[in-house]
Amino acid sequence: MIPSVLPTYNRAPFAVDRGEGSWLWMEDGRRFLDLGAGIAVNALGHAHPALVEALTAQAGKLWHVSNLYQIPAQQALADRLVEETFADTVFFTNSGTEACELAVKMARKYWDDKGADRKVILAFEGSFHGRSSAGIAAAGSEKMTAGFGPLLPGFRHLPWGDHDALRAAMAEPDVGAVLIEPVQGEGGIRPLPDQCLKGLRDLCDEHGVLLILDEVQCGVGRTGRLFAHEWAGVTPDIMMVAKGIGGGFPLGAVLATEEAASGMGKGTHGSTYGGNPLACAVGLKVMEIVADDAFLSDVRRKAGTLRQALEGLVASHPDVFEGVRGSGLMLGLKCRVPNTDVLTRAYDEGVLVVPAADNVLRLLPALTISEEEIAEGVARLDRAAGAL
Ligand code: PLP
Repeated sequence: MIPSVLPTYNRAPFAVDRGEGSWLWMEDGRRFLDLGAGIAVNALGHAHPALVEALTAQAGKLWHVSNLYQIPAQQALADRLVEETFADTVFFTNSGTEACELAVKMARKYWDDKGADRKVILAFEGSFHGRSSAGIAAAGSEKMTAGFGPLLPGFRHLPWGDHDALRAAMAEPDVGAVLIEPVQGEGGIRPLPDQCLKGLRDLCDEHGVLLILDEVQCGVGRTGRLFAHEWAGVTPDIMMVAKGIGGGFPLGAVLATEEAASGMGKGTHGSTYGGNPLACAVGLKVMEIVADDAFLSDVRRKAGTLRQALEGLVASHPDVFEGVRGSGLMLGLKCRVPNTDVLTRAYDEGVLVVPAADNVLRLLPALTISEEEIAEGVARLDRAAGAL
């Protein structure tokens, strides 16, 4: 008999009851150290007091009002995002997937308005942009698309990190945009070297192609800068944000330059819940906390600690792990044994990490994790690897 929850996920054998900071308590009373943070969603950990306060204050005031009206909480977050980034304008969604849908629509409308036949979007093997029709067509991985055809047309896929292939593809006259994650998350924590992102921006400028960055997983402080592209010193035309921006509340956004968004006039897009007051009140508080130099420098320091500890772990268990890769507090442990075997042992030791493609285990802890919790987490992983 089919379970009452549609079984599209491989569920772990425990039920999560509550969370606080980097810790989760199971229904059976066990306490787990959460090094996954809801797959990079709980940027400030679970039940951060400032977020609870912001949410509670907004909940007592206004939960929802149609986007037909002005929403002060939404305006405040949009202003803050514009202030902190390259963007001139923001459209809110409920998720990264919806942000992808809008980014694709925006790029296509841009070229349509110009009367140019440039509807093709270049995307990359191993990438992930959500599981909607545009998302799976953009990701183009067999695992996600099998059985769901015909796919949305107009995407062309390139190998990851192959600059020559990219240069050749960009020169095609029907190409209008490139969609890329600065650090591939689901694909196995594969950062694009800063030089490559710079080179990509140059190629986009050379060919007049729009650069769309998917910072759904790597944005909002995760790499130790507010957004990952800041490391390369370049800016996109369009950026997708979600996960961390809502701190656990469903929130996504598309940020764009005035030029890139120029086709998105009245009636071109909409969302009932996107940018609702509750999500935006939390999002604004997340931004107030994360977009702070001292906070981000602390993230970079802790990222160094975690990386070093993981390199020690790899050295201690060369039969289990091959290496560490990633950026900031977005790190991947490449495994030599099946990553699911390590994951199961990690569960036994009360520590949560997240599987990814390419036989990688992801560590995406709360940005607020302490040095002691990092040491505790790596000690638990050490015991888990030792038990294999
Ligand atoms: N883009 C990236 C890079 C992601 O990692 C994800 C989710 O994992 C998505 C898009 C889809 O976001 P959501 O699950 O919020 O729809």
